Amino acid sequence: MTWDRLRSRQPVVAKLLQQAVVRERLPHAYVFEGEDRLEHREAASLLCRAFLCRSTETKPCGVCHDCKRAENGSHPDLTTIQPDGLSIKKNQVELLQKEFAYKGMESPRKVYVIEDADLMTASAANSLLTFLEEPEGETLAILMTRNLHFLLPTIVSRSQILSFSPLSDVERQKNLEAAGEKPVLAALRARIGDKPVDLPEEERTAWIVHGRQVVIQLAEEVLQRPQQARLILQEKWHSHFKDRNHIDTGLDLFLFWYRDVLYMKWEREDLAYPDQAERLRVESLHRSETMLASNMKAVMEAKKYLSANVNPQLIMERLLLRIQEGS
Ligand SMILES: [Zn+2]
Repeated sequence: MTWDRLRSRQPVVAKLLQQAVVRERLPHAYVFEGEDRLEHREAASLLCRAFLCRSTETKPCGVCHDCKRAENGSHPDLTTIQPDGLSIKKNQVELLQKEFAYKGMESPRKVYVIEDADLMTASAANSLLTFLEEPEGETLAILMTRNLHFLLPTIVSRSQILSFSPLSDVERQKNLEAAGEKPVLAALRARIGDKPVDLPEEERTAWIVHGRQVVIQLAEEVLQRPQQARLILQEKWHSHFKDRNHIDTGLDLFLFWYRDVLYMKWEREDLAYPDQAERLRVESLHRSETMLASNMKAVMEAKKYLSANVNPQLIMERLLLRIQEGS
């Protein structure tokens, strides 16, 4: 990430950050707010390098010792905290404070990044609060959150808020691929965001890979062999999409399937299932636009029933029927 690239995607954020760096007027803490975690990470990485860089010219210079160590994640004055399981715990924040106090003498500048800051437990947040109030030396904090309202107001009031604008699906997909995600998964993840949110990052990928397979199979059978579809529902769908949160994401995957079929008719290439183009094309030949619109509506209604606590088994059986009939 460079200032130019950041400016092309997040003009307001880039301008504010770069001005602060050039004028050496950084606040004690920033909160990056917005849906896109990757966008936050890249902006944070750029800001950390600029903050730690020792060049007297443009920062980050990209060649000094500090820039290089910050870039490859080995800078001793840069710490990143991520959720430990489903939350950020008090001892993680305390450990950070201890480390910073210990290193306090040697290095003038320190920076820490807290990803998913809204997942801090109340005691972790309170512990951080005292740290934000009495930072040692020149310390910069970067907190990332999807939604500002999930952070303690006392933390928000002590930070400078930067709101990131949402990216298009295609932009998000490109970013995910650039960060190393497989293209097939990047396409889907760009569209469903961080769902299901209750799974830690490392489990989420495997969950999506499998869920995606089940959805593709079910979508295919529902058209060709309705009996088989019912079997897949019993044996594969319900065992993978268990709680409401997961079923809701499964329905999103389903929704994107039918949108893709519609997109095939319109010859659009921004598909959520790019590797399934052939299947999608065949399905698009068998269904009219009206039918596909009804399919999508049926999925949307299934989502609504789900949030109204209707039995998931009933919801799915009804959905399959409606999809078969195209009604
Ligand atoms: Zn540098």
